[in-house]
Amino acid sequence: MNANTSLRVIPTSAEERIYVTQPHLPPLAEFLPYLEKIWSSKVLTNGGPFHHQLEKALCDYLGVEHLALFANGTLALVTALQALRITGEVITTPYSFVATAHSLLWNGIKPVFVDVEPDTLNLDPVKIEAAITPQTTAIMPVHCYGHPCDVEAIQKIADNYNLKVIYDAAHAFGVQTEAGSVLQHGDLAILSFHATKVFNTFEGGAIICPDPKTKQRIDHLKNFGHVDEVTVVAPGINGKMNEVTAAFGLLQLQHIDEALARRKQIDALYRELLHRVPGIRCLGNAGETVANHAYFPILVEPNYPISRDALYHKFREREVIVRRYFYPLISDFPMYRGLPSAHRDNLPVASDASARVLCLPIYPALSDDDIRRVVNIITEHCQ
Ligand SMILES: *Cc1c(COP(=O)(O)O)cnc(C)c1O
Repeated sequence: MNANTSLRVIPTSAEERIYVTQPHLPPLAEFLPYLEKIWSSKVLTNGGPFHHQLEKALCDYLGVEHLALFANGTLALVTALQALRITGEVITTPYSFVATAHSLLWNGIKPVFVDVEPDTLNLDPVKIEAAITPQTTAIMPVHCYGHPCDVEAIQKIADNYNLKVIYDAAHAFGVQTEAGSVLQHGDLAILSFHATKVFNTFEGGAIICPDPKTKQRIDHLKNFGHVDEVTVVAPGINGKMNEVTAAFGLLQLQHIDEALARRKQIDALYRELLHRVPGIRCLGNAGETVANHAYFPILVEPNYPISRDALYHKFREREVIVRRYFYPLISDFPMYRGLPSAHRDNLPVASDASARVLCLPIYPALSDDDIRRVVNIITEHCQ
């Protein structure tokens, strides 16, 4: 019997769900030769050949001198603080993923939240000085959404007060300014290769190091503090990236340029379709000469007909899963909200952005039709 003659009523299929992101994966067949090598060498971890190759390939690709791979970005953050022996208080942003501040608590360090700039939603250098105390030892800014911080102003303050700077550059893979890679700034910078990030190795991360000596200390710290069979120099952790992950990173790197090119097109189409929509502000470039279009944040302004949360729920009803990055602020979570710096009066710009932001879907496999579907949900309230 032919399906067309059947009396069954076939429901019109619901629109396919669109998520805020979808990991970019190369063809599976391309990964098998790497696995075969691992199966025959039986080197699974502890700084094997793929680990070594990926460190070198990433240095070349990113335009940095030294880099230490990690099992994930959070371990990289925790270890970066250990490597520089940071203690006391660290100035950081409330407008980030919670791992930024958690890495401080895991080191027994007190986070001191400072507000962000309205244009970039990055740590506001003008407000840093007032938060410095005799206990302050470092600044931990975030290149939020991959938009570079005001690295020069931050470095100037750090130099004046003898503070270290550790960038949480989890969003900033491949981002460049006129001075080159944004990852070169600060004493250390960390990357995340989590599944949701622009460059993913399922899970993974790295610390960008300024010199071989610092990299060596970090390499010891990520391997229990082991220097050789009988020497342990520090209470290190197990932060190593394994060989399957490193091999996958090498393969991903071959496809990253096409993925970034598609992200750039998507960003441009969103901007074209949204730029005349009243009450919707797209966050702009922050001086990067090469952007990575890791996220597409919009701010729902007071003159938009419905609230951010109402729009968020409209999206969900229509099977478009947008995200409120970053709501709640880190400073509003229970382990932080008792800190004096976590008070909303101290963080007006971050609080306002957190109440207005929505991150729209952006990933290489998103089609132009998908983008129009997303934008239509925004514009149908404007008639
Ligand atoms: C993803 C992310 C991290 C954590 O990285 P993982 O690899 O998931 O541990 C840290 N900071 C920021 C800003 C992030 O977005």
